[in-house]
Amino acid sequence: MSGRYGEGVTPLESEALEFVRDLIRIDSVNTGDLSTIGDGETRAARFVQSKLEDVGIATTFVEPTPGRGSVVARISGTDPDAAALIVHAHLDVVPVQADDWTHPPFGAEIEDGLLYGRGAVDMKNFAGVILAVARHFARSGIRPRRDLIFAFLADEESGGVWGASWLVDNRPELFTGASEAISEVGGFSVPLVEGRRAYLLATAEKGVGSVRLTARGEAGHASRPLPSDAVPQLAGAVARIGAHRFPVVRTPALARFLQVFGHARGVVFSDANLDAELEDLGFVGRVIAAAARNTAAPTVLRAGDKSNIIPASAEAIIDYRALPDGEAELLAELSRLSGPTVEVEGFRSMDPIASPVDGDLVDAITAAIGEEDPDGVVVPYLLPASTDNKHFARLGVNGYGFVPLRVPDDFDVYGQFHSADECVPVEALYFSARVTAGILENA
Ligand SMILES: [Zn+2]
Repeated sequence: MSGRYGEGVTPLESEALEFVRDLIRIDSVNTGDLSTIGDGETRAARFVQSKLEDVGIATTFVEPTPGRGSVVARISGTDPDAAALIVHAHLDVVPVQADDWTHPPFGAEIEDGLLYGRGAVDMKNFAGVILAVARHFARSGIRPRRDLIFAFLADEESGGVWGASWLVDNRPELFTGASEAISEVGGFSVPLVEGRRAYLLATAEKGVGSVRLTARGEAGHASRPLPSDAVPQLAGAVARIGAHRFPVVRTPALARFLQVFGHARGVVFSDANLDAELEDLGFVGRVIAAAARNTAAPTVLRAGDKSNIIPASAEAIIDYRALPDGEAELLAELSRLSGPTVEVEGFRSMDPIASPVDGDLVDAITAAIGEEDPDGVVVPYLLPASTDNKHFARLGVNGYGFVPLRVPDDFDVYGQFHSADECVPVEALYFSARVTAGILENA
């Protein structure tokens, strides 16, 4: 696939490409540590703000701590009864190991139709696209049906503390009247069957938390061990949890995904053998498999520090990822697997979220894809990770992940996230601008 430049490219498409490149060139790495983070997010937010104000769109810039800027703008819609739609993208990116890259990570170079740079898919692509769409609407006099609230956010890669989470807690009035949101992770094409593509729409996200297991016993000399000592108790619990497979749960998103893919490919997916059956779908199958069940992973062990002393206690941390409405069952299962003598204490960090898999917004997304790819099918799925949509959920906003990208069948967009030589096809960015404009005008 080669990229068009200049000839035949619309102003919307060319601005989208230009802004994605401009944003990649602003190094806005989020190390997660305030002492090593520069002012890249603020510079990126100021860039966005100036491009919006250029075309007469009023903006609100916030910077809760130096260097961590975000910008929000509202475009009013034609239907006063319609709830607002939040359209958000984060301006920060994860760190780079420059040695692993064959293109400069902040160079925004284009080679063989691919645009390279940190943020090419995560997610300066969408930031540049929605900025171009907002300007396109303003220049062309296009009024969307609903109010659109554009939010360009700091700090997503470290939990949104200085970005979406801060705004929801401190400036909720900026999002008044919003019922839904569109952002990452989804929207890119994956092969459905030969010659047909599915566009994945994230309608739900797993929750995240951890559990601390503590086993207690008698401290003593290592020459007199007992099966009831803290370490063997704890080790048994950790081994049982590590070996456990939680059951497949057909959440609305998974059920719909399996129905659409099963129908198109002429297969019936089973619960018992689902992981192996999903392997046939390639990289997308592995993402779906990770989201088909609760998971729990032992990650930290702490016990004694001297070889000839039996410690009085031993501790393990289990990271868990819970399906929507699945947390209580997951925690009960971890308690059962731990056994009666091991203390279990849970620490929730992010609740799961789930939005309807049908509705007017899903219909608008489907229609916009249909304009550009008549054989394309929009398919819900559950994202086994977290985005800023979790913060907006605290305002009662249903979040969706849909950054439209039509890519070649063998181009794994998931594999680009946080990777070296992160890249995106230029033609996919043009597609993204056209489809996003269609969604936002008619949603
Ligand atoms: Zn992201």
